[in-house]
Amino acid sequence: MPVQVRPRADYSNLMIIDSHTHIDITLESAPELKDTLFINARENGVAAMVQIAAHVDSYEYSRSLSHSPTPVPVFYTIGMHPGEAHESDTSAGIHFAREHKDDPKFIGIGEIGLEYYYAKEHAQIQKKVFREYLDLAAELGKPVVIHSRDAFEDTLSILESYQNDINILIHCFTGDREQMEEYMKRGFYISFSGILTFKNAKAIQEAALHTPLDKILIETDAPFLAPSPMRGKTNQPAYLWHTFEYLAKLRNLPVDEISLTLVENTLAFYGIPFLP
Ligand SMILES: [Zn+2]
Repeated sequence: MPVQVRPRADYSNLMIIDSHTHIDITLESAPELKDTLFINARENGVAAMVQIAAHVDSYEYSRSLSHSPTPVPVFYTIGMHPGEAHESDTSAGIHFAREHKDDPKFIGIGEIGLEYYYAKEHAQIQKKVFREYLDLAAELGKPVVIHSRDAFEDTLSILESYQNDINILIHCFTGDREQMEEYMKRGFYISFSGILTFKNAKAIQEAALHTPLDKILIETDAPFLAPSPMRGKTNQPAYLWHTFEYLAKLRNLPVDEISLTLVENTLAFYGIPFLP
């Protein structure tokens, strides 16, 4: 039996897109989801997923998954997680991306960025790799998905020289209203994860209340950060519903209106012409 997350029948025609998920890592941490992850997603209104390949092992997996007959269409990005940049073959993603640049399912570069919470001692390497992948995005004409943790100032200063040429998304936004406004001044998109629903996430909720509607995306970042009331469980795309509903209530908007807006924003940011 698939999990049922959507609480009300009148939601049944709504669509949402999981703009950032890690299906390979989710199935590694919860192998029992192998047969249900996609069905659960489809049953709960997920119309598409963006599989983020930010590790060398994920590239070929993601490409091949995106071309498999899954119950929900999958697109993918190629990147290098900043927390692993110092111990990875960082050129592999660059080669892979160039080789598959014309694949219609390959829609962005990411996640890339700066991780100072876990790996600040490798900041210099992270910055170098971050710039290499930003150059790659500019070269290929693809948008970028940014991971930035405890690195707001450095992230902004590096992105400054790219912001006129590339679509930029700050994934899993965990800043406050002031940081959100700095991002908006530069034309970035921001994406809210399950953290938005946490009781203690007041600053993030305040930011979400004031973010221009045409700049918001939502994501699971599965298997991490399951939203309330699933907090602590292995996250999966079906649970995006909780984050969506929280945002709709916070903004006091009709669910059909905000679902359409979020889908449009996701398609616009990634440059997806239509859903298969
Ligand atoms: Zn991620």
